[in-house]
Amino acid sequence: MLWHFSMRASRYFMATLKEIPKEAEIISHQLMLRAGMIQQVSSGIYSWLPLGLKVLKKIETIVREEQNAIGALEMLAPTLQPASLWQESGRYEDYGKELLRIWDRHEKELLYGPTAEEVFTDIFRKHIQSYKHLPVCLYNIQWKFRDEIRPRFGVMRGREFLMKDAYSFDLTEEGAHTSYRAMFQAYLRTFRRMGLSVIPVRASTGPIGGTLSHEFQILAKTGESTLYYDGAIDDAQRACLEDYEPFYAMADEQHNAERCPIPQERLVTSRGIEVGHIFYFGTKYSKAMGAHVMTSDGKKIPVEMGSYGIGVSRLVGAMIEAFHDSNGICWPVSVAPFPVAIAALGPSYATEAETYYRSLMEAGLECFLYDLPKSQGSLFAELDLVGIPYQVFFGESWKHTSRVEIKHRSSNERTFLSLEEATSFLTQALTPKNP
Ligand code: ATP
Ligand code: MG
Repeated sequence: MLWHFSMRASRYFMATLKEIPKEAEIISHQLMLRAGMIQQVSSGIYSWLPLGLKVLKKIETIVREEQNAIGALEMLAPTLQPASLWQESGRYEDYGKELLRIWDRHEKELLYGPTAEEVFTDIFRKHIQSYKHLPVCLYNIQWKFRDEIRPRFGVMRGREFLMKDAYSFDLTEEGAHTSYRAMFQAYLRTFRRMGLSVIPVRASTGPIGGTLSHEFQILAKTGESTLYYDGAIDDAQRACLEDYEPFYAMADEQHNAERCPIPQERLVTSRGIEVGHIFYFGTKYSKAMGAHVMTSDGKKIPVEMGSYGIGVSRLVGAMIEAFHDSNGICWPVSVAPFPVAIAALGPSYATEAETYYRSLMEAGLECFLYDLPKSQGSLFAELDLVGIPYQVFFGESWKHTSRVEIKHRSSNERTFLSLEEATSFLTQALTPKNP
């Protein structure tokens, strides 16, 4: 896998900071800057440094695998779109100031896509005219731009951000609901592989339009949404949802205290971060843009559509909100920049640490050899800050008992093992569990 590779710290670009950057209001933004994952280039626009990009790519890979698993087909649409497509759909006027408009040298108006319903509808109408080719679902993982009035919280509300956006095309409303349900379940699997507990909430459809919509929210104190949900349903039950309406969960103004069917004592209120949003909007775009298909009895009807977004770059921040402690980030293995670090606590163990690093690489594990000449204190602090889940130390225990110390970042548990035992322990710990 392309984004799984081992590295030694002395050859890497570690851009960690000691001080808490003043511009960062929330913990995930502070930790991303302190761990050297991102650097701001302009308001709401970031460079992804090597360590941050590695996490972003791993999250992207999980999203991609779960899209592919339900038969969605990956393609790539451009970031720039002609304004004319938006005039056709009728969204050009509605979208307002979040839309970044650009004129090229021929005075032709372009925009930096904030989403891509028009581009995908245009592809569809040019290539598919018959029910025989339905259903089809296309997606891409591409940068988007929204000129947010208040970019803040780092990559959580950026202006330029990475989104997975998928578009489903079906002959009938019933078919569109089947596509919606498949996507709903793919989202639950996606977030579960990241170790997140996510609450799907009924949502309003906003400027995208349509009749059925869910947001996927993760619980966090710094979330911008207020969630109201049935506390009697636990995470495990939510993760195995077959369908999308079995329990009560609403966000913001969608919740109505008088009409809420859940007894007051069961209703939980909390803050949430929206990491995904799915819509069924029927024929809104297909009618406006003439995306019609021939039915089996020869009628021409507008195709039924849905669109499905995941905030890939927002997830990096959202996951840190969910997984951190006072020392730094606690990545789950599935998205950690490096799942294992190896360090010699003193120059006399450097060769042994190096040899073990090589043997773990040979065993197919992705590891980080921390070979910088630093004090033990700053070595521990740096590995904890960037959030390496398993940290292997060659120190006193190695000297006296030929056992390395393995520290588990999030529980702070320590295990002392021979090298052979350590390799099988780590192999086990890094093997993805069936979600
Ligand atoms: P929000 O209410 O947070 O502005 P939205 O409803 O405008 O989100 P959608 O149009 O549904 O967002 O976009 C799909 C996903 O893209 C969202 O669920 C979110 O995860 C992500 N996203 C939207 N806006 C931003 C942004 N400014 N920065 C980072 N990610 C974003
Ligand atoms: Mg928005």
